[in-house]
Amino acid sequence: MIIAADRIAGAGDGPGFVEIDDDMIVRVQSGPSPAQPDMSGSTLLPGFIDLHMHGGGGHDAARSVDDAAAAVSFHHRHGTAATLVSLVTAPADDLLKQLDDVATLADRGEQPHGWVLGSHLEGPFLSHVRCGAQNPDHLVAPDIGLTRDFIAAGRGQLRSMTVAPELPGALDVIDLLVESGIVAAVGHTDGTYAETSLAFEHGATLATHLFNGMRPMHHREPGPILATVDHGVACELINDAVHVHPALVQRMLAVSPVILITDAIDATGIGDGNYRLGGKEVVVRDGQARLADSGSLAGSTVTMVGAVGRALADGASVDVVAAAAAGRPAQLLGVTDCLGSIAPGRRARLVLLDSEHRLVDVTL
Ligand SMILES: [Zn+2]
Repeated sequence: MIIAADRIAGAGDGPGFVEIDDDMIVRVQSGPSPAQPDMSGSTLLPGFIDLHMHGGGGHDAARSVDDAAAAVSFHHRHGTAATLVSLVTAPADDLLKQLDDVATLADRGEQPHGWVLGSHLEGPFLSHVRCGAQNPDHLVAPDIGLTRDFIAAGRGQLRSMTVAPELPGALDVIDLLVESGIVAAVGHTDGTYAETSLAFEHGATLATHLFNGMRPMHHREPGPILATVDHGVACELINDAVHVHPALVQRMLAVSPVILITDAIDATGIGDGNYRLGGKEVVVRDGQARLADSGSLAGSTVTMVGAVGRALADGASVDVVAAAAAGRPAQLLGVTDCLGSIAPGRRARLVLLDSEHRLVDVTL
């Protein structure tokens, strides 16, 4: 099988084609395709990897194994080859059950309708001041014993955990995560520049949706944002033109190791209406999801192809966007041998976009 495009991520500026055999990429070649007419303005990207996904297609991924599978399948149709399932702050017993459910799904390995690479725990060791849509009733102080319980419930499939590094005991939790091979992420934090920098020195390697749910940058206290940039740490961005200004997204793509995420909730792909997230009422209007009580943004309704298409339309290069949507998350999760790039030996998980950056085809 041959897939041709005007532009292939990682394969130079001109047209090219990819040869696929038995579900694997066997050749990436520049120049006009021998087998298929070029689609003018088309772009071929590696299948996306989403580190931060709560739901989609009307399914809250935290509810059950079947709901998670349905949400994953929805995102698979929108370019996500592999994903983590993100769990918002909830009572510890609920989180233990949800971690077990996601492990059940991840243990199945790659499925025809998507690949769950594990879970992302967004809480409960987060700042009350910056909790956003996380339910403040269930936030608790960082606790090593509880962290060990989470790790055990995840059965080797807990891949990432977001912690507010300024909380007492947070650095011990970060140490334990790093020791356990779990990505320690800083987020929902009111930490200072110094407090966040310390977390990175302890081995945290990710900032959860940079700019959102954290102390903003001030010239006398630049906080977690500048600490992340200065340490060259990967930062998630929600590129939906709501959470972060498009100009800032473009600037960050140029200067920092950005990872595009969806932070999508169940409303994604369904439309405006009333929903729930972590036991709180959410109202979606004009595609913006906000808590009914506080008006705080409550995740997004963007898909990976939506975030990627916007980044390309706003001027980012194909290679920069491919790194942010596939290469870098693959690196962080240690799956570059099979995902994250268009190269011989990788699985044929590809996304073809037309000249308007709309999804034409996926071989996921
Ligand atoms: Zn989230």
